[in-house]
Amino acid sequence: MKSGREVVHEEFRRFLKRGDHRITPERFEVLDHAVDYEGHFGADELYVQMKSSHSEISRATVYNTVELLAQCGVLSKRNFGENKTRYESNVGKTTHDHLICTNCGAIKEFSEPKLQKIVKQISKDIGFEASGYSFNIFGKCTNPSCGMNKENE
Ligand SMILES: [Zn+2]
Ligand SMILES: [Zn+2]
Repeated sequence: MKSGREVVHEEFRRFLKRGDHRITPERFEVLDHAVDYEGHFGADELYVQMKSSHSEISRATVYNTVELLAQCGVLSKRNFGENKTRYESNVGKTTHDHLICTNCGAIKEFSEPKLQKIVKQISKDIGFEASGYSFNIFGKCTNPSCGMNKENE
């Protein structure tokens, strides 16, 4: 039996081939680190993490590979209202959306199948082939320590 990781590697290899992208071990190294990354990350955070685990990877390779992984569907691209693109692994995760605390920056996840139905229905009604959607709820979380770090700075 093939492990989940092998399936993902194969999927990415096929995607690279189809798009005439070079198949390099570095790209699969980025894939592994991206899939293992807990939570949401910017390309730069992934680069720093890889460097600290003694990778020889270049920043440019990390940046263009996460973009390819997002196109391939291995990663989801997120924008939480800042000027920063974040990614997260889709491997072994269900479709979900986010609540973003604008006070402390906490990000909570939820999964609501009704939302996915609404997206399908709206797209059908308007005559649109949706390839994805983004739904973010902004506000303030109820964590008692919310915003405390800010005051201590
Ligand atoms: Zn908060
Ligand atoms: Zn998420």
